[in-house]
Amino acid sequence: MSAPCPDCGLHDEGTLTCRERLNSLLFIEAEVPGAARGLPHFYAVACFNVQHQRTMKLTDAAVQQAVTSLDDALAGRVTIQDLLRRGRHLSRAGTLTAVPGTGTLFAPERWSMRITDALGATPATYVDIVTAWARQVVADAVD
Ligand SMILES: [Zn+2]
Repeated sequence: MSAPCPDCGLHDEGTLTCRERLNSLLFIEAEVPGAARGLPHFYAVACFNVQHQRTMKLTDAAVQQAVTSLDDALAGRVTIQDLLRRGRHLSRAGTLTAVPGTGTLFAPERWSMRITDALGATPATYVDIVTAWARQVVADAVD
């Protein structure tokens, strides 16, 4: 058995890294009309980023902003266009990328749904599953 993922705490006997699992999920997404340019893509990538702060080299501020953006999107307070603008603003402000070795805002044990749970998706269930993942990340983050 391989070591658990140091970021999200995933225990899995598979040989894929979590980053490779995200790529697999995005292949499923590619089969869903409109998903890659809409909120489903944001949900998948933001959930992955929040749960993989070190791998993705994100600052605490960027991770906290991703949780806030997930919550705003789920509640219908923002559109995908608003989120893209927000991301560009953060990128310009230089608040997104941390130096390697930065700690994690959230402990790996916190998460009750991870990338492998989302990988059960088919093109027919993809939107529902990544939306459920987003809701769970927000709920786990504020606990
Ligand atoms: Zn992981």
